Amino acid sequence: MSGAKRILVVEDEGTIREVIRRYLEREGFEVREAVDGYAALEAIAEQEPDLVVMDLMLPGIDGLTLTRQLRQRSGVPVIMLTARGETSDRVRGLDLGADDYISKPFSPRELVSRIHAVLRRAAPAEAKRIQFGEVEMDSESRTVRVSEREVRLTAREFDLLWFLASHPGQVFTRERLLDGVWGEEFAGDASTVTVHVRHLREKVEPDPARPRHLITVWGVGYRLETSHG
Ligand code: CA
Repeated sequence: MSGAKRILVVEDEGTIREVIRRYLEREGFEVREAVDGYAALEAIAEQEPDLVVMDLMLPGIDGLTLTRQLRQRSGVPVIMLTARGETSDRVRGLDLGADDYISKPFSPRELVSRIHAVLRRAAPAEAKRIQFGEVEMDSESRTVRVSEREVRLTAREFDLLWFLASHPGQVFTRERLLDGVWGEEFAGDASTVTVHVRHLREKVEPDPARPRHLITVWGVGYRLETSHG
């Protein structure tokens, strides 16, 4: 078999599933389909795909529950399909471990570009240095330079900035950042993240009041923007 990436498409609406399958196959992906959550879990147990495209509204097990169940056994990336207006479900989906979401109606081309982006991020890349804008991070010496000048970060601040910078452009909820950076056993709440982001902005942003890199996504969380904007 070639090195084609395997995508599992979980969607109960046949027309949408068919359109996605055809388009993804034309793009060189190997596609399998599941009509509901049970079929999806079966398919994944049989052979783990490289990525799952999952509709939020499914009969039986809904997409949120399915994402949570999936996360208990697998790190496979998930892109959720959501209808307009399901904002709170999107946030919950990201909390539960979905990697991205895309709103219906969407163009197949947009879906493909999201798939490529998520697969790129999921690829194991053991970066030792990350640079964005005027900021340079080195994970071995755990140093950060902004415009060539070293700035002092606490260990948590470093870990949080490294986590965000390792996933440029990806939106994280505060809860996911807590899990990813502090660990699930941490007893604090999401305001911890807010405070750390504020401190990071003061240290690495030229104008902390108008951040270029540590961007607030209102109602969702944060993402790291790498360009100067
Ligand atoms: Ca559906």
